[in-house]
Amino acid sequence: QSASDYLQAVYDELAEKNKEETEFLQAVNEVFHTLTEVLDRHPEYREHRIIERMLEPEKLLVFRVEWLDDNNNVRINRGYRVQFNSALGPYKGGLRFDPSVNTSVVKFLGFEQMFKNALTGLPIGAGKGGADFDPKGKSDMEIMRFCQAYMTSLWRHLGADTDVPAGDIGVGKQEIGYLYGSYKKLQGENEAGILTGKPSEIGGSLGREQATGYGLVYFVSEMMKNYGEQIEGKKVIVSGSGNVSLHAMEKIDELGGTVVACSDSKGYIFDQNGISPETVKEIKQTRGENISVYTDKHRSASYTEGSEKIWQNACDIALPCATQNELDENAAHHLIENSVKIVAEGANMPCTNGAIEAFTSAGILIGPGKAANAGGVTVSVFEMAQNASHLRWTFREVDEKLQETMTAIVKDIQAAAKQYGVKGQLPAGANIVGFKRVADAMIKLGV
Ligand code: GLU
Repeated sequence: QSASDYLQAVYDELAEKNKEETEFLQAVNEVFHTLTEVLDRHPEYREHRIIERMLEPEKLLVFRVEWLDDNNNVRINRGYRVQFNSALGPYKGGLRFDPSVNTSVVKFLGFEQMFKNALTGLPIGAGKGGADFDPKGKSDMEIMRFCQAYMTSLWRHLGADTDVPAGDIGVGKQEIGYLYGSYKKLQGENEAGILTGKPSEIGGSLGREQATGYGLVYFVSEMMKNYGEQIEGKKVIVSGSGNVSLHAMEKIDELGGTVVACSDSKGYIFDQNGISPETVKEIKQTRGENISVYTDKHRSASYTEGSEKIWQNACDIALPCATQNELDENAAHHLIENSVKIVAEGANMPCTNGAIEAFTSAGILIGPGKAANAGGVTVSVFEMAQNASHLRWTFREVDEKLQETMTAIVKDIQAAAKQYGVKGQLPAGANIVGFKRVADAMIKLGV
């Protein structure tokens, strides 16, 4: 059986068993397309049934989260934590609070995290979790009670060397602070290393908030360097207006690029002269406020309803930083027609597989999320290191190490793409490097 027939058979069986898990199947499908050559060259991966084992999470926790809202009504949500793979180290990955969270979503995120974390070169396994809870419009006390209720179920499964969550969509510094506060009470010890992305007052690393967005821009700069290009003078679209997007915008500004558009779940804002990340930050600090109010503060900006329409505008660099499947094939064609040169994923799986294919056949450079947004988890590991050693690093130290890591990732995946006959195709390179690191560790560990 050829490697591609083998992968097809494994995929068909997975699809048959997990019909409803569309996001998970999509993520697996994207990876499988890039692994044939690796499997041909390394028969040991098939012998050890690495692929089949990787597809099955080590553990999937699903739990009820019950809490009281401000009117004393009992509210019920579903909480999740997938402990995907621990071959390289403790489970590591964020928590997402969003109504779209379900088993398929946490499994796709956990699967992606496995490759991403391996790409950092740091000793961490992969996990992901969250709840179908919508933080939008909730009061601060409701958020706190929800975090406490969530932790009541999860705390037993965490540990600095076992499983270390962080934030993701809907979970920022404050939520991590509440989660840690409740862990401390339940567990009875100071064990700051069980969560990352903490506020700096309680053991958080400087630079963690900036890490994903800054890391993404460092990644893009490194990609461009190989073509004698730079961010300066480039027009950039950054979708989203959350933590990743905001800090990507900030860094692009700093490097002399112009961010012409950003968005939220309802619509997008556009300004040829550049969007102000400070104003976006102010707006988004009020939970539930829409990006449309930006135009009250900056008259030269316009607002358009429908966030997916952001991709109809022209830019040199497109950075999807909002959420999965926000950029489809249709949007990809708009961008290609408008001469986009680089697409790098700040979010997890923001481009559909159709979009990736369209960009690849048009010769557009793609920075895949697994690699391009790995800056967040990288600095999370720096936070774990600081907590374990009872030390604090300066912002500069963190930022320098982050830059080194992002540069190394670009180099590693470029080299792998070349070695496996897909030169310049970074999504394939990222999948190959991530897969091999986890696979080799699994073989060493035995069954
Ligand atoms: N949620 C982030 C990600 O998608 C960060 C995970 C972490 O810091 O553990 O990688």
